[in-house]
Amino acid sequence: MTKIRTLLKDYFDILEENKIPKYIQCKHKTIDFDTTAKTDILWKKHDNLLKNKKLIDIELEQSLLDLKIELASRIFKQCHFCERRCGVDRRKETGNCRVKHTKITSEFLHMGEETVLIPSYTLFFSGCTFHCVFCQNWDISQQNIGVYIKPAILAKMIEDRKKQGARNVNWVGGDPTPNLLYILEVLKKSTTNMPQVWNSNMYCSTETMKLLKGVIDVYLTDFKYGNDKCAKHLSKVEKYTEVVKRNHKIAYENGEVIIRHLVMPNHIECCSKPILKWIAENLPNSIVNIMAQYRPEYKAMNYDDISRSISNEEFMQVKDYANQLGINEE
Ligand code: SF4
Repeated sequence: MTKIRTLLKDYFDILEENKIPKYIQCKHKTIDFDTTAKTDILWKKHDNLLKNKKLIDIELEQSLLDLKIELASRIFKQCHFCERRCGVDRRKETGNCRVKHTKITSEFLHMGEETVLIPSYTLFFSGCTFHCVFCQNWDISQQNIGVYIKPAILAKMIEDRKKQGARNVNWVGGDPTPNLLYILEVLKKSTTNMPQVWNSNMYCSTETMKLLKGVIDVYLTDFKYGNDKCAKHLSKVEKYTEVVKRNHKIAYENGEVIIRHLVMPNHIECCSKPILKWIAENLPNSIVNIMAQYRPEYKAMNYDDISRSISNEEFMQVKDYANQLGINEE
């Protein structure tokens, strides 16, 4: 536990009130911007302000968080929150993820997340940027169901959940990526001193990764595939390794990282081992949760390679390999 604590120092500093969460710092970074300015000018302002560490004592009328909301609202109108880059106007249409306006399917204090995170105030959005044939949450990830909760109301719910013992706010789905504008709007209304957790497949666009910078404290990521062929076969997604590796590196530079890897049958040599090797070489201070709970669900029985649970031998092979590489396991 001491090592995990060291690797998640900022997270624990926020919990112990020695540090304020990044999103609150954002509200104390002053900026004035013109909402009619060109998008590239606003990005330049955004990137410069991120480098500036100076915080103003009071919460500002127009802050870095407002600039992020402005940029996110522009992305929303030609959607490129994820690397599918559908380009749809989300005020009127849905893209590949099937999300138009945000819908929340459930919210509760989750006790089944990683030990350091629980109780975790977990918000499940409907829709997903992936279409995994084995999805265990397919009922919410592959449909547009749930309810819209006004940002101010959700901000109040977050405050109430903190009083009930929540340690963090855990944005998940499906995937949180299509809902980034909404998440920023909630944070604008929120004042609760809690770390923000981005619980995602990490298929975000570079623009989304920039908006998350300075907002997200912990990236709780999912790293599934060691090559693009398996990603295409099982999640119907292109350029998986390029995008997900790039985004893990960005996350690692800008926050603390816990990586989940679900071991799948017959995918040890092609997926588990290359992923762990890459993590050991590129993200040595991240924490990895090697998960054994794969079960064939949804359409998995139609895919011979993943139509059974994993064997104990397969799981131990992955654990031993992680151990040899010196991976920091949860
Ligand atoms: S978030 Fe959805 S609509 Fe936007 S680019 Fe990705 S799949 Fe397309």
